[in-house]
Amino acid sequence: MVTVTSIAELQERIRDWRRAGDSIGLVPTMGALHDGHFALMRHCRADATRTCATIFVNPTQFGPNEDFASYPRTVSADEDNLRAVGVDLLFMPSVTEMYPPGHSTRVRVGPLGETLDGTFRPGHFEGIATVVTKLLLQALPDVAVFGEKDYQQLQVIKRMVRDIDIPVRIEGVPTVREPDGVALSSRNAYLTPAERAVAPALYRSIRSVAQAVAEGGNPDREAARGVEALERAGFGRVDYLTLRDAETLQPVADASRPTRVLAAAWLGRARLIDNVSVAPL
Ligand code: AMP
Repeated sequence: MVTVTSIAELQERIRDWRRAGDSIGLVPTMGALHDGHFALMRHCRADATRTCATIFVNPTQFGPNEDFASYPRTVSADEDNLRAVGVDLLFMPSVTEMYPPGHSTRVRVGPLGETLDGTFRPGHFEGIATVVTKLLLQALPDVAVFGEKDYQQLQVIKRMVRDIDIPVRIEGVPTVREPDGVALSSRNAYLTPAERAVAPALYRSIRSVAQAVAEGGNPDREAARGVEALERAGFGRVDYLTLRDAETLQPVADASRPTRVLAAAWLGRARLIDNVSVAPL
């Protein structure tokens, strides 16, 4: 595995691979890598002959009072693990390589980025759309791989790529979970042992809501029950627990179209997000 830090080196490597007839896959991450990330790398390896991972903690997707400065950074373990998974190239740009002085252009996706996490984290999806656009145009991969763990992010990226004609195929990979159901996340490192013991309630609640709505339950009533269950289990503020159209993320009255339960809730200083699909009626 070769590690590069400049856009020029990234493009030189990819140009050589293109000349040799390789196909290129890209897996953007913010590092502090875990098995969820490695599932994306494996998916990518099966889909393209060269897999490029990126590690960049993107300042433009963090709000002023969020955890940009304290976000976990474990670069040398990440490099070892990416090598072991068979990644060909790691791109690890600095903030000034990605955002040189004077940068000002932003990509805004519209309604998909303004609901759910977009309401609670203003500017978050504009930061994501901007950095993902930049990475896609820097590498021009055939395929880019993202996790369903960040379901809204995946829909935002799919919409954006369609809307502005970025020539790449977007692949989504199912969420990788701990045996007790907790979705793997770099931010789980913020949980104390007592909070970690409460965390499985999130997946349990959204699954039970999904099941109830699949059986004909009213989405609003079941969502309210889910929120109560989270609070009873020991979660702090529940930012949202809601049923949405799986593609547009607009509220639904039933599960007659593909539907997703999405939730975000606080546990100590960690804000956990998770989602599941509602089985068709
Ligand atoms: P992050 O480093 O948190 O920005 O995540 C980088 C990519 O890994 C995103 O596409 C995430 O959706 C994906 N990802 C994070 N956690 C998981 C997980 N538990 N299962 C599958 N994909 C994940």
